Amino acid sequence: MSHISFPTTSDELLELQQQPEARIMAGGTDLLVALRHGLQHTGTIICLERIEELSRIEEQADGSFSIGAAVPFSAIVRSPLLKEHYPLLTQAASTVGGPAIRNMATIGGNIVTASPAADSLPALYLLDARLELRSAIGNRQVPIADFITGPRRTMLQPGEVITRIILPPPQPWTIQRFEKVGRRKSLAIAVASLAAAVRLAYDGTVAEARFAWGSVGPTVMRCNQVEKSLINKPLTVETLSTVAEQVRQAVCPIDDIRATADYRRAVAANLLLRLLDQ
Ligand SMILES: Cc1cc2nc3c(=O)[nH]c(=O)nc-3n(C[C@H](O)[C@H](O)[C@H](O)COP(=O)(O)OP(=O)(O)OC[C@H]3O[C@@H](n4cnc5c(N)ncnc54)[C@H](O)[C@@H]3O)c2cc1C
Repeated sequence: MSHISFPTTSDELLELQQQPEARIMAGGTDLLVALRHGLQHTGTIICLERIEELSRIEEQADGSFSIGAAVPFSAIVRSPLLKEHYPLLTQAASTVGGPAIRNMATIGGNIVTASPAADSLPALYLLDARLELRSAIGNRQVPIADFITGPRRTMLQPGEVITRIILPPPQPWTIQRFEKVGRRKSLAIAVASLAAAVRLAYDGTVAEARFAWGSVGPTVMRCNQVEKSLINKPLTVETLSTVAEQVRQAVCPIDDIRATADYRRAVAANLLLRLLDQ
C-alpha cells in the first residue's frame, strides 16, 4: 500500500524524493493508468499539486518564458502570454485528450512519459525548449532533445524532478501551426502530428522554416534537409509537394493498432500542405 505525500515547496519535494521507491505524481493521467494496469509500486507517491512554484507561467528578465512542470494543459491553453508568444504550444495543448484530461494532465508529465505521440513534444522541440532538473545534489538544464533518449525513455536520474520548462525568447515567425491527425476528432492519440514555424521574407519567400513531427519515429523527428530546401522558395502547393516527398523518405514510423507505417508516412508528408490553409 502506497503512502501519499503533498509537499508545498520544491525543497520539501526533493527531501521526499530521497526515500527509496518514491514516485512523483503530477496529474496522474499516465501514472494511475499504469498502476491500474499492474505497475507495482509500494513506495511513497509524491503529489505536485500543492507546490505553487511549479504551477507558474512567467516571463523572465532575458525575454525567455518559464512554465512550471506541474502546469496543466488547460492553464497553457488559457494563458494569454503563451497564446501571444508561442501560439504553437497553445494549439498543441488544446489537442491533448478532452477538457477533463487537460485539467489534470501536466506538461511535465507529458515530457517524462516521453511517448512518441505526446502532443506537447513537437512544439517543445521546435521551440528549442530547455528543462530545469533539480535533485538534492543540484540543478541542471538540458535541451529537450537530449532529455528524451527513446520511446518512453529519458535521462531523468533517480531523485531528480523537472521543475520548469524554459522557452527561449519568442521569434517573429509568420506562421506557427500544430496539426494532429488521430483516429477521431477528440480524445485521440496522434497517428501523426506536425509542429511548424515559418518566417517569410518581404517578397513572400521562405526565410526560415522549422518542422518537428510526432508519432512517426521513436522520438520527435526534425528534418534539416526539408527545412533547408524551402529557403528562398515561395510557399506554394508545388514547393510543399516537392519537399513532402523528402518527408516521406525521412520519417521512420511503425505499424501499430492505430495506423500502418505507410499511412503515417503519407500523413506526415501531407500535413505540410496544411500550412497553406491559413
Ligand atoms: C483518456 C486519456 C487521453 C489522453 N490523451 C492524450 C493526448 O491526446 N495527447 C497526449 O499527449 N497525451 C494524452 N494522454 C496521456 C497523458 O494525459 C499525458 O501524457 C499527460 O501529460 C501526463 O501528465 P500527468 O501530469 O498526468 O502525468 P502523471 O501521470 O502524473 O506522471 C507521468 C509520469 O511522469 C512522472 N512525472 C510527472 N511530473 C514529473 C516531474 N515534474 N518531474 C519528474 N517526473 C514527473 C511521473 O512519476 C510518471 O512517471 C491521455 C491520457 C488519457 C488517460
